[in-house]
Amino acid sequence: MTDELQCTYCERFSDEEDHVPPRTLFPKPRPANLVEVPSCSECNRLASTDDEYFRTFVGLRSDVEDTVEGRNLMPAIERSAKRGRGPILSVLESARSVERRSRAGIILSPGVAFDCDLNRLDKVVERTVAGLYLDHYGERLYPTHIVRSFCLDGLRNLSSATRANVEKSVAEVLKRRPTEIGGNVFSILAHALW
Ligand SMILES: [Zn+2]
Repeated sequence: MTDELQCTYCERFSDEEDHVPPRTLFPKPRPANLVEVPSCSECNRLASTDDEYFRTFVGLRSDVEDTVEGRNLMPAIERSAKRGRGPILSVLESARSVERRSRAGIILSPGVAFDCDLNRLDKVVERTVAGLYLDHYGERLYPTHIVRSFCLDGLRNLSSATRANVEKSVAEVLKRRPTEIGGNVFSILAHALW
């Protein structure tokens, strides 16, 4: 009975289920091994907007849009854009042409850049980690633990000591065998540091 359970993300009781990773990342038919965790309606409502934002950004990344999985996401992104939903509009309105260079400094064809609210992306990652933790260990992550989310592109904003710590942890995690959800769409790699 989910109404007896506490929300995965806050102190309220749950009255709904939340999917982790967010099911909007997966085109239909959706994979059967998406995890369901208890959620209150307020957390679920806030999550759905963030999930849409996350999906838009993932789908528009230059290293994703040309993949099969990226192309499968595009119809849903386009439908949301046509409906004029807020989070997507703010992303699309920030589009601008930028010069692209290869690592060797060669000028490539122009690319499109978008403004990104990293806090919003982090929230989706943090929720997903909390949900997967509950599913795996059978206990809530909050309020005794916190989740810190790092985007590899954003590591340069950290102090050198923190960056070295994160890079060391990531190197360990990358040695693990991933659990895949929805084929190539989502991989989970986990490593306990203590
Ligand atoms: Zn909640």
